[in-house]
Amino acid sequence: MVATAHDNTGHAPSYYAHSANAAPERPSLQDNIEADACIVGGGYTGLSAGIALAEAGMKVVILERARVGWGASGRNGGQIVHSFSRDIDVIERSYGHAVAEPLARMMFEGAQVIRERVAKYSIDCDLKDGGIFSAISPRKAKGLIEQKALWERWGHPGLTLVDSPDEVRQWVNTDRYSALLIDPTGGHFHPLNLALGEAAALESLGGRIYEHCEVVKIERGEPAVVRTTQGQVRARYVIVACNAYIGDLEPALVAKSMPCGTQMIATEPLGALADELIPSDHCVEDNNFLLDYFRLSADKRLIYGGGVVYGARDPKEVKSLIRPQMLKTFPQLQNVGIEFGWTGNFLLTLSRMPQVGTLSPNIYYSQGCSGHGITFTHLIGRVLAEALKGDASRFGAFARLPHHPFPGGRALRVPFTAIGALWYQMRDQLGV
Ligand SMILES: Cc1cc2nc3c(=O)[nH]c(=O)nc-3n(C[C@H](O)[C@H](O)[C@H](O)COP(=O)(O)OP(=O)(O)OC[C@H]3O[C@@H](n4cnc5c(N)ncnc54)[C@H](O)[C@@H]3O)c2cc1C
Repeated sequence: MVATAHDNTGHAPSYYAHSANAAPERPSLQDNIEADACIVGGGYTGLSAGIALAEAGMKVVILERARVGWGASGRNGGQIVHSFSRDIDVIERSYGHAVAEPLARMMFEGAQVIRERVAKYSIDCDLKDGGIFSAISPRKAKGLIEQKALWERWGHPGLTLVDSPDEVRQWVNTDRYSALLIDPTGGHFHPLNLALGEAAALESLGGRIYEHCEVVKIERGEPAVVRTTQGQVRARYVIVACNAYIGDLEPALVAKSMPCGTQMIATEPLGALADELIPSDHCVEDNNFLLDYFRLSADKRLIYGGGVVYGARDPKEVKSLIRPQMLKTFPQLQNVGIEFGWTGNFLLTLSRMPQVGTLSPNIYYSQGCSGHGITFTHLIGRVLAEALKGDASRFGAFARLPHHPFPGGRALRVPFTAIGALWYQMRDQLGV
């Protein structure tokens, strides 16, 4: 079975749509309504901010163009990876200790937010502890040693480096890796079911969610007016949380970021073979520039992702793109069927740091996690809520980072970035 555009759940087609928990399909907004906070986009950023605001007693409305979790939040690798897409030592070297320090203090908080929410609202999303970073060569293994030292410096104990072939195979049964870095506080989960559970949590707090509800204009003012195709919300505050699927809604946000596609496949259920592949049942990602990432699902499929398409044109044949990558890691899967293949978009920024800020005094945004967004989106939801409630100190720590456009502008940013990436791809292939 291949996920197609015809899945009747309204979720984006994927293995996750196939295995989604039952969730009500919400109506579109047909009226003129009011809210304290109107959030555009029903992914983790919007949901996380919505829950934090509703917990604080605010009246929250989320407007989602498709369904909750339709964007990257319902299609991703489901891997809890701490920190940001740009390592904090690079931020420190570029902008100084005073800028990096408050960000570093938040590097491990997003995972806590996820675990707290799952426990508090009894979210059924197959959450499991344990993550592994892997290196395909001794040169790449040095990167793991540096990462361990960096994270320990910022107060993250419990990491273990594994570098003998026998020991590596006890964690991940492949000859491909020279070394692993084990993080017991990493983890993985069913991403769409997390989003659906968070939506239910928000509604249990009185929040309202409208699906199939495209925002076409956000009018500045106090209150701001958020216009949809058939209704409008007058709100004291607006949060734009559309990430890579923003289209042309806010051109200023589009101009400084670039949507990129990444692809995933899911095998048929593997039964006992699954436990032989990843005896630890941790999720795994390598430390290449263009990385592979994989894990087992609750029903014992291997879910494997990789590849980047700059500019987010959907490739026609996802399975034939990703299967060879999977077989490089696990040649023992040669005869295993691939049942699902899908694609999704994340938002790249030039600095690889998320872009956070305001479009006017009461219109906030967060976007551009550049590939690692599961923990950041949960962190920033909390941080945005703090800002709307009057404490913008942690919001300011992100908002002060400069945002640069990609060289070449909208017309040439894709080829320029792809050419730049070739250099790193070649280094990946050489294992340096
Ligand atoms: C295939 C894939 C694998 C990934 N794997 C991982 C991983 O393992 N670990 C990790 O940390 N990160 C991963 N990521 C990144 C992570 O999924 C994202 O950073 C994160 O989900 C972004 O959440 P978001 O809420 O900001 O955006 P999204 O989840 O994309 O949500 C944005 C929402 O806004 C809605 N929207 C847009 N425009 C409008 C409008 N005008 N009106 C109304 N609604 C609108 C969209 O429909 C969409 O639902 C992956 C991403 C992809 C694509």
